[in-house]
Amino acid sequence: MTNTISITGYFEGGCCMHCGRELRHCVQTDAGTFGAACFGKQITKPRIYRGKAYRLSTDAVISLARTAHNLTSDQLAFERVA
Ligand SMILES: [Zn+2]
Repeated sequence: MTNTISITGYFEGGCCMHCGRELRHCVQTDAGTFGAACFGKQITKPRIYRGKAYRLSTDAVISLARTAHNLTSDQLAFERVA
């Protein structure tokens, strides 16, 4: 069992697996669907930057999820120089 959770995408309209609330913005992860607020503020630890803990805002989590949705593994792979 891994200790990390990865955002895998975004979709509209669903249910949060953490609090059961109906969601307009759904953050899809490798551990299920969560609301951006629950994901960023409750089910994940704060990130550390230069010794200070910080949390992503709800908006930031949503845009991250939207970006992930638009990227494919093909777009992330690069051909190496022979
Ligand atoms: Zn929730």
